[in-house]
Amino acid sequence: MDFMNDMEEIKISELAGRFPIIKELQAGKEIVWINPDKTDHESSMRDSGLTMQDIEDAEQRLQRFAPLIMKYFPETRDCGGIIESALTPIPAMQEYINKKYRSRLEGKLLLKQDSHLAIAGSVKARGGIYEVLKHTEELALKNGLLRKGDSYERLAEEEARGFFGRYTIQVGSTGNLGMSIGIMSAAVGYKAIVHMSADAKQWKKDLLRSHGVEVVEYESDYSEAVKKGRVLSDQDPMSYFVDDENSQDLFLGYAVAAKRLTGQLAGLGITVDAEHPLFVYLPCGVGGAPGGISFGLKQVFGELVHCFFVEPTQAPCMALGMITGLDNKICVQDIGLTGQTHADGLAVGRPSGFVGSVMKHMLSGEFTVVDARLYDYMRELLRTEDIFLEPSACAAFQGSIWLNQKKETLQYLGENDLLDKMNHAVHIVWATGGSLVPKEVQEEYRNTFLD
Ligand SMILES: *Cc1c(COP(=O)(O)O)cnc(C)c1O
Repeated sequence: MDFMNDMEEIKISELAGRFPIIKELQAGKEIVWINPDKTDHESSMRDSGLTMQDIEDAEQRLQRFAPLIMKYFPETRDCGGIIESALTPIPAMQEYINKKYRSRLEGKLLLKQDSHLAIAGSVKARGGIYEVLKHTEELALKNGLLRKGDSYERLAEEEARGFFGRYTIQVGSTGNLGMSIGIMSAAVGYKAIVHMSADAKQWKKDLLRSHGVEVVEYESDYSEAVKKGRVLSDQDPMSYFVDDENSQDLFLGYAVAAKRLTGQLAGLGITVDAEHPLFVYLPCGVGGAPGGISFGLKQVFGELVHCFFVEPTQAPCMALGMITGLDNKICVQDIGLTGQTHADGLAVGRPSGFVGSVMKHMLSGEFTVVDARLYDYMRELLRTEDIFLEPSACAAFQGSIWLNQKKETLQYLGENDLLDKMNHAVHIVWATGGSLVPKEVQEEYRNTFLD
């Protein structure tokens, strides 16, 4: 065992020698990292192995399920059973961060409110729900529950529900993925089991149980909960495991967001073109949500969009994987970080290897953020715009605040001929969760001040 540790230490100090920014990560400092492997748009897409066709296929599947979603979740009737969130200008927050943090943000600052997505109240309502529906369609077609031309409402009939009741869906989660998979699975009629890591909040477990979902609690972190959940699921031939670390279905469910964003921007009279570049800041955990959305955005906007991930200083797993090129072969604990953070949605120690490889040539860069700031950003958004987000979601603000003031990002803007275009840039802070947080927990967050 000691021998192993020595080996590890030598390897890590070697890595830190090759990539000096690792020393900053190890010290728990906030970093800015520009991805040196980003390539031109076309070759990055070729390397990804996924296409626009894959996203369109996902979008059409969601459309087929819209009647069933409306039936089970009447709150989605207004938008025809399509689960989508508002894109909202936040000028008061923009003015505030420019003053307080000297962000020098010109152009437009917008909030993408996945925090308020129907059913699950987080970005996970995209990928998680999509994967449950895709599995449902496969089972239904294979077993003759749907005939050509049928409305998918048919799946709400007793015969179909009885059929789905013989099947189980399981997932490992820090909280929000479990909520989206659990609520949707239970609605369709499956037995749902969610394996929750120690970071998961009590109210999320309670809410799931109230939907009839079985919640299994672990003392360990996210990766352990996933591992145990997978083993249990694999023992049961009637059980399907949603694999957050490797699932292409989840990824494509997230990617659909991008196509719909074009219509929303147009609706606001906002142009994205060579003179109006688009910057998007996304909180990152295992990588599926920010990766899938970024992939979709790159498909739609190509070179015009610049995607940045933001992670907690104690759980910068995607940054570590991408900086070293080791992807999921390294975890934050390997460099002495705890993996623990108040941002429960981002409390992931080991990144998705699949997402790391797709993002390798697409991602513009990464920021990390200390937990204390998440609560500050949360209070500031609430005060200036009267919008509540959970702490994890607030991580995205770090990118918008730092873009125009850090030497690394300024150099990126310079090298990409963007400096003289920043006065008409469009910035989207991707708000990933918060609308289901109970009032008393919101109150607790509002009164949390960390050093
Ligand atoms: C899950 C989650 C994320 C990040 O998604 P990953 O797929 O884990 O990278 C960001 N914010 C919130 C609130 C989340 O629940």
